[in-house]
Amino acid sequence: MHEIILCKLGEIVLKGLNRHSFEMKLMSNIRRRTQRYGKFKIYSRQSTIYVEPVEETCDLNAAYDACKKVFGIIAIARAVPCAKEKEAIFATAKEYLGPALLAAKSFKVESKRSDKSFPMGSIQLSQWVGGALHDAFPHLTVDVHTPELTVYLEVREDAAYVHGPAEAAAGGLPIGMGGHAVSLLSGGIDSPVSSYMIAKRGVQLELLHFASPPYTSEQAREKVLQLAQELTVWCGRLTVHVVPFTEIQEEIRRKCPEDHFTLIMRRFMMRIAEDIAAHNECKAIVTGENLGQVASQTMEAMACTQDVTHLPVLQPLIGMDKRDIVKIAREIGTFDTSILPYEDCCTVFTPRHPKTRPTVAEVAEAESALDIDALVREAVDGIERIRIDL
Ligand code: ATP
Ligand code: MG
Repeated sequence: MHEIILCKLGEIVLKGLNRHSFEMKLMSNIRRRTQRYGKFKIYSRQSTIYVEPVEETCDLNAAYDACKKVFGIIAIARAVPCAKEKEAIFATAKEYLGPALLAAKSFKVESKRSDKSFPMGSIQLSQWVGGALHDAFPHLTVDVHTPELTVYLEVREDAAYVHGPAEAAAGGLPIGMGGHAVSLLSGGIDSPVSSYMIAKRGVQLELLHFASPPYTSEQAREKVLQLAQELTVWCGRLTVHVVPFTEIQEEIRRKCPEDHFTLIMRRFMMRIAEDIAAHNECKAIVTGENLGQVASQTMEAMACTQDVTHLPVLQPLIGMDKRDIVKIAREIGTFDTSILPYEDCCTVFTPRHPKTRPTVAEVAEAESALDIDALVREAVDGIERIRIDL
């Protein structure tokens, strides 16, 4: 039996005039994510994208799992096409869903008919196929409210399709449709989740990581690259820009009051992020900040951090509970890596008594002994770019 994948479009269907470009982008994202699993024909009809294997050797299971993680698809199902005749539809349902029908106690049939020239109405078709399946599997009872198994029939332009229940897929919008942003990726739990959440809104990310060797170790760096690798499952291929941050941190320690240390450091992160943004057509900076979590995440502290950039700073986790962030981290597969115990540049040189209610003027004064432009330039010049493939 020739199984194919049906991808149901999510919010794209609300896109009106732009819808065509959203669909084109989504199809090209699907193509890129599935190509390693063989040759597939990918096309769209009536709010559904079809992914059809064209070679015997195609790995449909792997392609299905990959499609499930492509943003823009809200639900996904495997289906089998057949001729648009009631007998063929019944025979296909009987064979394809036979094992599931045997295992279930109750079922119903639900039909959709977008080909209006099909001679039966959808209720009529459901009744006819339902009756025939009932005869073939007499142990089943029909339950139209809470059936154990629903058999779906779709009569479309080119064929009829039979499938079991669809599974939830990634949701969101196709990557690339929301523009580009720089996302600050530490080795913690939060920033992989914030990166995922913004990518899910259709944004292509440039990942930025600040490393302070020898204060931060090679393992800490590897951990961040591993997190980036885990994000490619959702985001596709990514680039990590690794910024040498040691000199800036040492300079701050030498020349600035200790209680402002973290804030000054975070302002440098923003300035460097803005520079990367300018060179990569990025229109925003993404961070994993969360209100009240640490001293640098009070409203006053964030005002000081964001004061040095003109770009919007997107903080998708700002109002979430840690518990809910952890839940997402587990679901997207980054949690286990995030909890590996390696240090971050934010955790070296932490002040004993950080300022929690700073003012912009105070921080500007505290960093006035530094040659800010030169430090930023030197760090940017030393950036190492690492491509992370799927
Ligand atoms: P996370 O769990 O993401 O590390 P956090 O709760 O530890 O966050 P902070 O250390 O205050 O919070 O960092 C806030 C945000 O700043 C992070 O979510 C991340 O976006 C960014 N950030 C922190 N350290 C780094 C780093 N070394 N490289 C890149 N971005 C960083
Ligand atoms: Mg952290």
